[in-house]
Amino acid sequence: AQSSAEGQPRTGVDIVGLRKRFRAPDGTIVAAVDDVTLHMPKGDFCVLLGPSGCGKTTLLRCLAGLEHPDEGSITIDGQPVFGPGIRTVEPQDRPVGMVFQNYALWPNMTVADNVAFPLTTGPRKNRLPKEQIRARVDEVLKIMGLSSHGSRAIGQLSGGQQQRVALARAIVAGTDVVLFDEPLSNIDAKVREILRRELRAMQQDLGFTAVYVTHDQAEAMELADQITVMRAGKVMQTGSARDIYERPRNRYVAEFIGTANLIPVTSTGSEAHQVGTPIGPIRIADPGPDGPADTPRFVASRAHRWWIDTAERSGENVWSGEITNAVFAGSYTEYVVQLGETSVRVWADDNPELAPGRKVWVGVDPAACVVVLDHD
Ligand code: ATP
Repeated sequence: AQSSAEGQPRTGVDIVGLRKRFRAPDGTIVAAVDDVTLHMPKGDFCVLLGPSGCGKTTLLRCLAGLEHPDEGSITIDGQPVFGPGIRTVEPQDRPVGMVFQNYALWPNMTVADNVAFPLTTGPRKNRLPKEQIRARVDEVLKIMGLSSHGSRAIGQLSGGQQQRVALARAIVAGTDVVLFDEPLSNIDAKVREILRRELRAMQQDLGFTAVYVTHDQAEAMELADQITVMRAGKVMQTGSARDIYERPRNRYVAEFIGTANLIPVTSTGSEAHQVGTPIGPIRIADPGPDGPADTPRFVASRAHRWWIDTAERSGENVWSGEITNAVFAGSYTEYVVQLGETSVRVWADDNPELAPGRKVWVGVDPAACVVVLDHD
């Protein structure tokens, strides 16, 4: 097994220097997974998040063994399954279960047969005897609260029950890592919320490591212990939902998650924790990551961390400006406020709503201001 810097055996999923290229129909080469190094700790809910085409499904398929990487190595629960000098482990022999889009259950098979399926494939000589398969299926159905549903057809189950069958099938072979490929993507929004909560509760109960692909940031924030934001085959940032939201390291992450104001940094400030910008000095909480000196930087701040006032205000990180747009969004109103050449978005729940053209004072807590790089 691989070891961490402290010499402790690492478990969960370890991906080192992984690359997978495809040749597109027009002959160009696409780096779907481009030098990805990532550790997913055992028992964590790990989400791969990014827009369509960023390579998250390809990365998941590399873990499952459904895609053969060009370079790098993969270790799952201490077992090397791909890498230089090791025999690549076939999908059915990897210590992972998989939950597909829309669960991919067989509608005409019973619940028990769906769950038993992974135990009935592969070379016959490796299979468990029938009675042991039945016992194991019963055990898993019991864990999932589906004991009385074993002989039902899939079509007779609710969405929540189908999710549990899919999960039962993924863990029946006794694996501790479950891979999820956007299982909730085609499900109605209200039901999806319920299923998401149930999935998270089951994952915590059972304690397996989840690797979950989605393009939905709200889903990622709600489910994840660890979020990995991907773009064009590369990892942009890995961290907790709070890290990613409050301490984005680059412009892409700041803009992909939530609504951020990005104000260009024009000079390093005369004091620590202060930078120069087109609207004057801004006091900041975090000077941001080190990076090449010539990489453009921005002060990133969340729209909901700004305030707006019609009475004159003064102090640090306070500006006067004019409202150019106001959009009521239910729990808040989004104001666009012009500060010279720079505009900021301010989410406020002030009532009554202020009209465009109004002169206002706006400001932001330095604790909500971090410097991000334009790109890595
Ligand atoms: P989506 O959410 O749309 O599935 P994704 O982030 O999961 O997107 P991938 O499906 O992993 O992205 O695709 C990454 C890139 O690799 C894309 O440019 C895609 O067109 C390309 N790609 C993926 N599979 C193949 C393939 N079998 N042949 C050629 N190109 C592929």
